[in-house]
Amino acid sequence: MTAYKRDTRLARGELPALARATIDPYVDAMPGPVYYQRVAHPVGLEAERLLGELDGGHALLFSSGMGATTALVLALLRPGATVAVADGGYWGTVALLEGELARWGLQVVLFDQTGEPPNADLVWLEPCANPMLSFPDLDAAVAQAHASGALVVVDNTVLSPILLRPLEHGADFVLHSATKILSGHHDALIGVVTCARAQDRDRLAGFRGASGLVAAPDPAWLMLRGTKTLALRVERQSASALELARRLAGHPAVERIRYPGLGDPVAARYVDAFGPLLSFDVVDAAAATKVERAMTLIQNATSLGGVASTLEARARWEPTRVPPGLLRLSVGLEDVDDLWADLAQALER
Ligand code: PLP
Repeated sequence: MTAYKRDTRLARGELPALARATIDPYVDAMPGPVYYQRVAHPVGLEAERLLGELDGGHALLFSSGMGATTALVLALLRPGATVAVADGGYWGTVALLEGELARWGLQVVLFDQTGEPPNADLVWLEPCANPMLSFPDLDAAVAQAHASGALVVVDNTVLSPILLRPLEHGADFVLHSATKILSGHHDALIGVVTCARAQDRDRLAGFRGASGLVAAPDPAWLMLRGTKTLALRVERQSASALELARRLAGHPAVERIRYPGLGDPVAARYVDAFGPLLSFDVVDAAAATKVERAMTLIQNATSLGGVASTLEARARWEPTRVPPGLLRLSVGLEDVDDLWADLAQALER
């Protein structure tokens, strides 16, 4: 604060040249001045410009993936609307809609996203669904949803725009929990919605400013930095995940493995690589807990998509939605043979 006051240029209301050069183009692009962080800030505007370019639309940052989901639903739907959500996708989305927003009278319909979406006001798809790894036929699902008058959101958290650009398949909105692979280092909480249409971006921006669901500058900056290595990380993580999926598929303690890279013909039509996330079943919940606890390199943690591999028995959080022995693995940047050695010794137990 003292340094701020002592800077005479700032005292005269001028910004140092470097800051001006960085900020000016985005300030000029704003409908009004960047006068308050809840409405807009320069780091956020730069991150939104970049994400918009990557996704091919109009991006907005939110406080978290769930902040983004909350804004989408409350800003775009009416009380009593019907939301069709891909079954086997992120449980927090369903928990929010069915739980916190129940007083809003929302109707939530879970559906198998490998088939046709049911009639709804909003259809929520999740390619490489967390944690069941189903993959929708995007073109067909979007066309069917639009034909019945629904908007379509694609939660692209797991794949990122490096592998899939849902707006090119007709989706109205892309959602990212940028807490995951976009930031990539397990140190930021942030969400993104990229809109196909500028007027939807403006509507959501208005809601965000009013509600305070905005991302702070620090996580926005961490996400911006993460995007510089995104393509490299996604490539390496996808290659290692595919290799581990193949090895796990042949392990006698593994009852079932889910990874679209193991021959899902629909997924192969949409992506060249399948991202960092896979899940596999061991015999029961007790065995899953044993595997979790036996890990030495792979961390027993909830988050996913980052540089460190993480594994978790999901029945702890969503016991009615997943098989009791399901383990979700997010593959990071460690050496793939080291990762296999850790999994193999844990599965031996
Ligand atoms: N979508 C998916 C697929 C997720 O995995 C998560 C979080 O795990 C979210 C949305 C919510 O994101 P956040 O934790 O940033 O609120």
